[in-house]
Amino acid sequence: MTIHKKDNEWSEPCILCEQEKKEGIHILEAFLCKECEREVVRMEPEDPAYADKIKKLRKIRSTTLFS
Ligand SMILES: [Zn+2]
Repeated sequence: MTIHKKDNEWSEPCILCEQEKKEGIHILEAFLCKECEREVVRMEPEDPAYADKIKKLRKIRSTTLFS
């Protein structure tokens, strides 16, 4: 994963929205921005978009495990 350094500020591309954000959490090697974290937490498991996002997160996890 590429980490961009701009002066003293760090931003990383979010795994879900693919936008560079400064605030967020790290899940293993992946970066999840604050907005997406909140979105995932708020979503209902029945929501099709939720499954989609979780799938993306699982993808990272398995890539990390098997690489
Ligand atoms: Zn995001």
